[in-house]
Amino acid sequence: MNLVDKIKELKKEKNAIILTHCYQNIEIDEVSDFVGDSLYLSKMAAKTDADIILFAGVYFMAQSAKLLSPNKKVLLPTLNSGCHMADMIDVENLKIFKNKYPNIPIVCYINSTAEIKANCDICCTSSNAVEIVKSLGVKEVLFVPDNYLGKYVESKLKNVKVITYNGFCPTHLRIRKCDIDNARKLYPDALILSHPECHQDVTNNSDFTGSTKEIVEFAKKSPNKRFIIATEKGVADRLNRDSKLYHWNKEFILITENIICPDMKRNTLEDIYTALLEEKHEIAIDSEIINRAKNCIEKMLNKTYSLV
Ligand code: SF4
Repeated sequence: MNLVDKIKELKKEKNAIILTHCYQNIEIDEVSDFVGDSLYLSKMAAKTDADIILFAGVYFMAQSAKLLSPNKKVLLPTLNSGCHMADMIDVENLKIFKNKYPNIPIVCYINSTAEIKANCDICCTSSNAVEIVKSLGVKEVLFVPDNYLGKYVESKLKNVKVITYNGFCPTHLRIRKCDIDNARKLYPDALILSHPECHQDVTNNSDFTGSTKEIVEFAKKSPNKRFIIATEKGVADRLNRDSKLYHWNKEFILITENIICPDMKRNTLEDIYTALLEEKHEIAIDSEIINRAKNCIEKMLNKTYSLV
């Protein structure tokens, strides 16, 4: 039996599901029950009656799955798959940041640990960050950990000052304005699609900026045939695969070759098999943190934006 079949067999045996983030190595899709962005995956996991959730992604994502499914066993294929951006802020630094700007509501990006979420007012994703900040109806807001998503939100809203923590995604910041210029010269017929974690002069010079999900939806609906993908390689890989599979006749070109998140690419099929077999790398979160962090996510999900 090959590894893919062995994993599928093990999933049945253990009543387990595999959630795969779309920045993962593409071969992992073969054993996955759901593929998408982190919030979609955690929401799908909460709806299933699986006993075990294996999250092929990074640490904060598996934590989010645990927050929404506290009674399920949540596993990570490798324990050292953190997220550089999420790890740029800890509770101590968060306290310093909040103390510097007292009495201002604080929004955290979903790309943050459960401990950070537990100490913030409301969560957001890259899809709904503008909507969430706007809904607060305040003139000033604190935003952690991503400086670039925070500043992107500010650029979309009139009269709201977004005070950002200085976190960033090293993978998205590798994309430069000169890469956009080069792509325009090489592929004048292509549309450039970027993620709001990128530099502002990248998003400002793109044809469309949005979350992973929004980029995929835009690319599918657009009548254009060629696109430059200014986000993680996994997105371009899956779009090219689906274009062949479903005869879209579209081409997706990664803006430069090195837009690869090393944290995301750590997980392999072998790691998935071993973690599931031995039920190892289980996510454990203190119950008080679970309650507070879940509340932070639920305020976003239920669109109950009034801050307490
Ligand atoms: S791409 Fe950036 S934000 Fe996403 S997991 Fe990797 S380091 Fe974190």
